[in-house]
Amino acid sequence: MPIVTVESLEAYAAATAGCTRCRLAQGRTQVVFGAGNPHADLMFVGEAPGFHEDKQGIPFVGQAGKLLDRLLAGVELRREDVYIANVLKCRPPGNRDPQPDEIEACEPHLFRQIELIEPKVVATLGNFATKLLSGRPLGITRVHGQEQETALGGRKVLLYPLYHPAAALYTPAMLKVLEADFARLPELLGRELEPVAAPEPELALVAHAEPAEQLGLF
Ligand code: SF4
Repeated sequence: MPIVTVESLEAYAAATAGCTRCRLAQGRTQVVFGAGNPHADLMFVGEAPGFHEDKQGIPFVGQAGKLLDRLLAGVELRREDVYIANVLKCRPPGNRDPQPDEIEACEPHLFRQIELIEPKVVATLGNFATKLLSGRPLGITRVHGQEQETALGGRKVLLYPLYHPAAALYTPAMLKVLEADFARLPELLGRELEPVAAPEPELALVAHAEPAEQLGLF
């Protein structure tokens, strides 16, 4: 399926529902595009849908979803205030890790989502989302809780890596860290970011361009 250009998130979700860009299309019940406020300032990006997400078509249901709701409530936010998506929109069989070619096939959907939502803060949950959106190979244990200004979807955003709630569920020490990192979200959402600088006009290119006639354009 080609990446379509549409103006609204809803229309993009509808266009993605039939995506067959990677092998995961074969085993899914449905594409789990994402859910929440299409104009959210805060966007979460997890890994991939699991069993319940695949059945219900909603990201972060089940125990990890309940923990996410509780963490959100701790900073006085509800699911309807934020947007939640995943790196992969279809469930990998047996909840195995995403494969590099699946991430490559699916990432244009995520980047387009970010472009359309225009969040101020993108919180990546776990290793896969963090590595993809930071463009760096550093694992979540090293970088959690360290915000980083970056350009995504043509705008500056604060990228904020967090432990994945599913990993924190059964590890009390990790849950404590996740709660402490979560508590900084209101401060990060209040930060002003400089807009991305417009690219310099390519003067050298203009100066050396051949007249159109000589290029045989007319
Ligand atoms: S995982 Fe992504 S790229 Fe693969 S079929 Fe689903 S929506 Fe398309």
